[in-house]
Amino acid sequence: MSKSYSYLFSGTRGSVTHDKSVIKSVSHGKLKSWAKHKMETLKGKAKSSFNTACIVYDETTGKCYYGRNGGYNAEGYEKNPILFGDDTHEGILPKNSLNKFPVGNCAEVDAINNALNDGAQLKNLHITTINATKKKFGTYKPSCENCKHTFKGKVKENYSGWVED
Ligand SMILES: [Zn+2]
Repeated sequence: MSKSYSYLFSGTRGSVTHDKSVIKSVSHGKLKSWAKHKMETLKGKAKSSFNTACIVYDETTGKCYYGRNGGYNAEGYEKNPILFGDDTHEGILPKNSLNKFPVGNCAEVDAINNALNDGAQLKNLHITTINATKKKFGTYKPSCENCKHTFKGKVKENYSGWVED
C-alpha cells in the first residue's frame, strides 16, 4: 500500500507552519488536486459514491493525510482504536449515528484515522473538507453531526466549519 500522507509543502520534508491562513489555502489547493485524482482513479461503487474529501494537516510534523467518504470500507483499512474502540475501550465516535450516515463513513474520519495510525495527536490537527461532486467541486463542506460530536474542541482547527444545530 502507498504511504498515507504527503507534506504540506511539497519538497520541504519536515517544514512546518502554524500560520492558519497559509495552512487553509495550501490545504485547500492540495485537497482539490487529491480529490480530482481520486475522481479519475476510483472504481465501481467507490467511484460512484465519492462526494466528499478531507485533508488533515499535522502542525507538529508538516504531514498531510487524506480521506474520502466511505473510505473506512476500503480493503485493508486499519480502524484506529482511539476512534473505533477495541476489545477493552470504547472509541470516541458516537455509538449510534446522529444522522442518516453510518458512523465512520465520513471523509474526516478516514483522514483522521490515517493521521492517528501514523502517530498524530488530535490536538495538533487542522482539517479541511470539500465537496467532491461535479456540481459543487472544491467548495467547503461543514462537518456533520457525528464529526462535530467527535472532533469539535479536540482538533486544533476546522477550516470548513461544523454543521449547525
Ligand atoms: Zn461527518
